[in-house]
This record gives sequence, structure tokens and C-alpha cells, in this order.
Amino acid sequence: MREQLKLLEELQQHDARLKEMDALRASLPRKLAEAKAALAELQRILDRERAELAENEAFLREQEAERKDTEQQLSRAKARLAQVRNTKESLAAQKEIESARRHLESREEEMKRLTQALAEQREKIRRQEAQLEAERTELAQQEKLTQQRMAALEAEIAEARARRDEVASRLRADVLKKYEAIRMKRGVAVVAVEGATCRACNMNIPPQLFNLLQRGTTLELCPSCHRILYWARLLEAEQTS
Ligand SMILES: [Zn+2]
Repeated sequence: MREQLKLLEELQQHDARLKEMDALRASLPRKLAEAKAALAELQRILDRERAELAENEAFLREQEAERKDTEQQLSRAKARLAQVRNTKESLAAQKEIESARRHLESREEEMKRLTQALAEQREKIRRQEAQLEAERTELAQQEKLTQQRMAALEAEIAEARARRDEVASRLRADVLKKYEAIRMKRGVAVVAVEGATCRACNMNIPPQLFNLLQRGTTLELCPSCHRILYWARLLEAEQTS
């Protein structure tokens, strides 16, 4: 039974490593998908900024058209002032000129403000485009690297599984079946006993059972956590013998 216990311990190490590698294999594509989603979000933000810029540019063009109208209105009013025939007409023309001037001034102020804001917005978009480009390059590299790592991992897993199966093939069928059943339920199926304590559940092992474990001729389970037990020093002793 010593040999079987040793194989069980070895099998458990293989299984733990395989489990880790399986988890890694699952997490690599997930990380790539997250990076892709982040890039798509960045693209959405940029699209929104571009649409906003286009709206603001259209608004600036409207303001410019309005400014031109007001300018024409002003020059028409000035021409009228030159041709007035009485005070009443003069006052009316002056009033019109004053109003057009005020309108023109406020248009120009608005346009100045808008032009400034547009410059800032274009600069912001330029920065975002550069960032997006950099991240796209990085993602392409990450994608390539992930593919390489996945291929390497697949090979490693296949190799580890072959080694695991080789160990399993040397186990007695009933022992292997028991191991699989406990592993399914409790994760860890084989546990060392050190001193007289189960390392998994920290329960003291009854003296009679401890004697059996020291002899190592039978397959024994922990009365508390129902895992397969082996006396740690039994396997060590066998290595030196
Ligand atoms: Zn236990």
C-alpha cells in the first residue's frame, strides 16, 4: 500500500497542476476580451467627441452667416443715414446702426469663444486618436502573445495529462475510484498525517488508526473529513529504503 499511497500523492500533485493550467487557459482569452471591450469603449467615446465637434462646427458656420447678414444690414443702414431727409429718418437710421453694431459685437464675441473651444476640442480628439492608435497596436501584440501562450499551454497540458494518466494507470482500480470520488467532493483527496493530526481538518487521529497508518498496509480515511490519509514519515522512509 505504500507504493499506492505514494502514487496517490503524485497523482494529486499532477491534478493540482492540471487544474491551475486549465484555469490559466480559461483566463487568457477572457483577459483579451476585456482589452477588446476597453478599446471599443474608447472608440465609442472618440466617435461621440467627433459628432460633438461636427455639431459645434456647424453652429460656428451659422454664427458666421448671421454675422455677414448683420454686416450687410449695418452697411445698408449707413447708406440710408447718408441719404436722410429729416431728423426723424436720421434718428431711425442711427438707431438701426446702433442695434446692428451691438448685434455684430455679440456675434463676434460668441464666435471668438466658440473658435477657442473648437481648437481645444480638436486637440482633445487628436490626443484620443493617438491613444486609440497606441492601444490598438498594444492589443494586436497582446492578441499575438495570447495565441502563442495558448498554443504553448495546450502542449504543456497535454504533456502533464499524459504524465498524470501514466501515474493513474499504475494505481489499483478501486484505489483510483476512491480517490476520484473524494476529489470530486472535497477537492483535496489525499492528506498527510503529521504527528497524529490530519493536515486537512486538524483532527487528532485515534491511536488505533494511527497505528494502521504507521504500518501502511491498508487504505484508511480520516474519520472526520473522510479523505485518504497517509503517514508523512512512511513515504519519506520508503524513499530512503
Ligand atoms: Zn481529516
